[in-house]
Amino acid sequence: MIETKNDEKIWLSSPHMGGKEQEFVNKAFEENWIAPLGPNVNGFESDLEKYLQEGTHVAALSSGTAALHLGLQLVGVTRGDTVLCQSFTFAASANPIMYLGAEPIFVDSEKDTWNICPVQLREAIEASLAKGKKPKAIIGVHLYGMPYKVDEVQKISEEYNIPVIEDSAEALGSRYHGISCGTFGDIAALSFNGNKIITTSGGGALVSSKPEIKKKAIFLASQARDDAPHYQHSEIGYNYRMSNITAGIGRGQMIVLDERVQARRRNYDYYVKHLSSKEGIHFLDEPKDVYSNRWLSCILTDSFEQREEIRKELETYNVESRPLWKPMHMQPVFKNCPTFNNGVSEELFNKGLCLPSGSNLELEHLEKVVELIKKIG
Ligand SMILES: *Cc1c(COP(=O)(O)O)cnc(C)c1O
Repeated sequence: MIETKNDEKIWLSSPHMGGKEQEFVNKAFEENWIAPLGPNVNGFESDLEKYLQEGTHVAALSSGTAALHLGLQLVGVTRGDTVLCQSFTFAASANPIMYLGAEPIFVDSEKDTWNICPVQLREAIEASLAKGKKPKAIIGVHLYGMPYKVDEVQKISEEYNIPVIEDSAEALGSRYHGISCGTFGDIAALSFNGNKIITTSGGGALVSSKPEIKKKAIFLASQARDDAPHYQHSEIGYNYRMSNITAGIGRGQMIVLDERVQARRRNYDYYVKHLSSKEGIHFLDEPKDVYSNRWLSCILTDSFEQREEIRKELETYNVESRPLWKPMHMQPVFKNCPTFNNGVSEELFNKGLCLPSGSNLELEHLEKVVELIKKIG
């Protein structure tokens, strides 16, 4: 058995600082910009705008969840509406629908990307229209960094005139046909939580191609304060703006973003190289002209039992792994929501496992994971 240093825990996805973050944070202290606005917030926004593509407009927020919440509100979702949402995702994709008093309609995944199935999506829209109620938005998610079928979702969105909220929380650095994820939806959300590809400890961003959407998002995120010398409000706002301190961490992380993507892709390639010949271990290849940031390296096994055996073996040796996301239509809190279910996400949940994927993993960590898995069966 390979011994890692002090037999330290191998994490699924832990923060990985590049070294320059502290300088930006120190500058905020020196200049007393200890507030949810300031040069780091503006700088981080413009770093992201340059990274994604010229002509995008980014509002830095306190979380990815906040970005999804504001995004839904800005495309007009309100009480009593319905929103089509990829079922195979993290709860934060769906919760903001409930914050607005709207109802999710969950849509299952397809097997090529594990993301929202265009066939099921169309069915869900047609069924809603047949009942006389048009859904107000579509939430597609690039899960684990793998882009959803952007062209097909876009086509459906245009055909029925339903806006797309692109949950790109896990996909900063991924590309579809050469174009950055986070630029496809009418509005997109990014996350910089501690486990994401880059982190600000906690944070997120709303992305749009329209400057007026950015402006409105910042307005709503700063308590919807009217232009007046006193405090005056004509709308309900939120306290969702990013802090100038955490934005400093983000500025430092942007310097190393591409390195982080490369490191995560190297992890994935290592697992493929050493595990794909093993019986009952399968990987999700990138479709043509798709570039995944491989935020988490996932395997699909042949059975629930096999998956559990691997997960428990890794746990015994202090290696963190996790089953794939439990679909929203299987969650107790969403059990009464309508669902268009083809069984795909349920199978992924039962048989899939996320392996340690941090960009800070060293070769010996990857060797240990592979050795443990190879030892089974
Ligand atoms: C992390 C994540 C979010 C939420 O982002 P936070 O910054 O944690 O609020 C939303 N959707 C998906 C798919 C995520 O992985």
